[in-house]
Order: sequence, then structure tokens, then C-alpha cells
Amino acid sequence: MRCIPMTLAIALISSFALAEQRHASSHVHGLNHATVVLEGNSLQISYEFPAEQLSEYDEHKHGEHKHGEHKHGEHKHDEQGDKNHALSEKLEEIDSVFAIVRLPKNAQCKEAKVTHSVTQVTSNDKEHASHYDALIESTLECSTPNNLTNISFEPAFERFDDLEKIEVEGLLGTRALSETLTVTSSSLAL
Ligand SMILES: [Zn+2]
Repeated sequence: MRCIPMTLAIALISSFALAEQRHASSHVHGLNHATVVLEGNSLQISYEFPAEQLSEYDEHKHGEHKHGEHKHGEHKHDEQGDKNHALSEKLEEIDSVFAIVRLPKNAQCKEAKVTHSVTQVTSNDKEHASHYDALIESTLECSTPNNLTNISFEPAFERFDDLEKIEVEGLLGTRALSETLTVTSSSLAL
């Protein structure tokens, strides 16, 4: 077995953190980013996408409820705050990473924690100035990580109509991988 020294592994992980920052500023509709890190029994999956994907998801149930919701006498509307709040609520409907990925059952992965965040796009790109990015971060514990032979993102392609591709970067122990998935090739081999 080949081993990469710990310092190098740490350098790799921090380069992933940098990659995430870079992703945060590249807001492209139809393009999502996933990061997968497996270390021992612990699997971390983060999934980032333009928040407009959420609006499209339930556009049909919008309109009718829109006005009834704000009757608690707000004189001034904080539109930015409202939008952030509405998107956060929609994002939290995705209450588990299993709404986005499918893992081999015999790897016995259980989700220990999932967090959601919505951030406004900070690029100079005027077209997307009031747009948001959504991020889901999940930590899983897998009893039999050796059976983790693939991660399928098919549920994400089923859920989001306008999803075209997912750029995945991974770190499995000491092995790095990078792949682009599409609807016809939605599974990542590990
Ligand atoms: Zn956008």
C-alpha cells in the first residue's frame, strides 16, 4: 500500500477548501459542485448549486401562497432578507443528502449531521448580482467503507430539472479524484 505523508494529505485537503471558495464565485446555472471526502469511516459530502434551482423545483406551488404569508405587520419589506429566508426554507426541505446521492446499501452509511446554507453571489457579474448559492454539507458514518464502490448522483438529476452537470472532487484516504457527471453518466466510481 502506498502512503502519502500526512502533511501532503493536509495540503490536499486545504486545496479542496480553496477549490470551494473558487466555486462559490463561479455561479453558473445548470452546473453544480460536489466534494466527497472519505477518511476511515467518515464520509463528508458537500453539494453546492445556484439557488435558482430551488425556485424552479416548486414554482408551481408558489403564486397562491405568496401574500398570505406576510401578515404580521411588516411596514418595510426587507426584500433581500425575505429572499434569503425563502430560499433557506426551500433548501431545508432537502433534509438529507440522500435526496441528492445514493450510496451502496452494504456500505451502511448513516447520516450523522447535515447543514444548509444560502449565500448571496459576490461576483462582479451583474446578471447574477441578486442571485444566491445553496450549500448542503453532510457528514456520514459508514460501517463498511470498503463497500463504498460508487456514489450515484442520479437523485440530484431527477430532482433538479435544469441540472446539466456536476463537477465532483474527491479525496478517498490519500487518493484524489476529479470527475464531471451528467444525466447519462451520473455515477462516480470510487
Ligand atoms: Zn443565478
